[in-house]
Amino acid sequence: MSGRHFFGGVHPEYHKEMTAGKAIEAMPMPEKLVVHFAQNIGSMPTPLVKRGDQVKKGQVIAEASGFVSVPVHAPTSGKVEAVDMFPNPVGAETLAAVIAPDGEDAWAEGLNVEQDTDSMNGDQIKGLIRDAGLVGMGGATFPTHVKLSPPEGKSIDTLILNGAECEPYLTADHRLMLEHPAEILEGASFFARVLDVKRVIVAIEKNKPDAIEKMKKAVEVKEGYSVEALDVVYPQGAEKQLIFALTGRRVPAGGLPMDVNVLVQNVGTAFAAYEAVRFKRPLLERVVTVTGNGVAEPKNIRARIGTRFEDMIDRCGGLAEDTVKVISGGPMMGVAQYSLDAAVTKGTSGIVTLRKDEVVQFVSDPCIRCGRCVEACPMRLNPSALSIFIEMCHFEDAAEYHVTDCIECGSCAYVCPSQRPLVHHFRRAKAEIRKMSRKAG
Ligand code: SF4
Ligand code: SF4
Repeated sequence: MSGRHFFGGVHPEYHKEMTAGKAIEAMPMPEKLVVHFAQNIGSMPTPLVKRGDQVKKGQVIAEASGFVSVPVHAPTSGKVEAVDMFPNPVGAETLAAVIAPDGEDAWAEGLNVEQDTDSMNGDQIKGLIRDAGLVGMGGATFPTHVKLSPPEGKSIDTLILNGAECEPYLTADHRLMLEHPAEILEGASFFARVLDVKRVIVAIEKNKPDAIEKMKKAVEVKEGYSVEALDVVYPQGAEKQLIFALTGRRVPAGGLPMDVNVLVQNVGTAFAAYEAVRFKRPLLERVVTVTGNGVAEPKNIRARIGTRFEDMIDRCGGLAEDTVKVISGGPMMGVAQYSLDAAVTKGTSGIVTLRKDEVVQFVSDPCIRCGRCVEACPMRLNPSALSIFIEMCHFEDAAEYHVTDCIECGSCAYVCPSQRPLVHHFRRAKAEIRKMSRKAG
């Protein structure tokens, strides 16, 4: 079943050996946490705290501002020292609360209490997941409760637990599967109960044989669950490509996995659902791979949301002098950082550091029409033509050539001999098209 291969894709060097064998370590509490309010796709939550407020661990510090929005919680107890704009790892500055921990790590009332999950119905499970502020932790940050709410007429028959982790360097999901297989499956069982799904597939790339073995052992006691080993090709973990590889179903252009009766959840999100439903623990921490030749000792770290990148990097021995790039996420889809004041958010899967001799200097020559990008694009787009339209600000043409279907995987840019900033072009075009459609009403 997993022998199906999606169109295109590339084979970048994976560099996962730096951290694949490193057990998850807990990050000591830093001196301050910078907790961004904008951590989900959708509407930004509404801040509830101001400078000088005392907060407890798990207390809501920003409430959901609509259906496609989730609350943000204090990752520990302490004092709010500031509410101001700080660098967000996704790029721009956004509003955040700076919390000075009081050292007590004292929970807000009613949280961190074991729940009787057997008696819960789907709505109660979904409510706990929403209240815990869960979003897709593979980096997409789409609110989990929304994915668990298919509209009338749509039903889900297959849940895919995404443990592919195809992005180079990152091993956070790999370690989570090795160290917490039962918890991940319990989290998945909550998703399955909400949607009344009987078929659950754990999808893992073949370059993680130990995780495949662990998860296979764990699913032995779960009826309807299986583990599928996937070919190692980037972007195997992208939703549409994963669904095709596992089920042969094609998500239509502009469509969603639910259009082909599938739900995809990252294994990290399943682990967070276990914590939220079993123990009523909001999403306060996550596993982050801090790696690359720019740090002395690469690690997988369980860190509080709000831990500054500088503190994470110091924990790994600091930056080598000739480090020229620090990326939030992996090198294919991640965002280069301009400040180490950026802090871990719910979507931060990794911090990758690259030294001078590892970074290709930006040249952006003209397109030589070699066609390599067309062969690599898993969405069957024509990145060459799209980039030329966009350079000429012909955004309508780019829309006609389906730039909005681009999943920003970076495969085209990876193979481009002219080193054209293709993904940058496509992000810009999508933003322009969104603006045009807003104007058009
Ligand atoms: S970034 Fe977009 S255009 Fe380029 S290969 Fe990926 S999906 Fe295709
Ligand atoms: S890979 Fe680069 S140079 Fe080749 S066709 Fe695509 S955009 Fe042009």
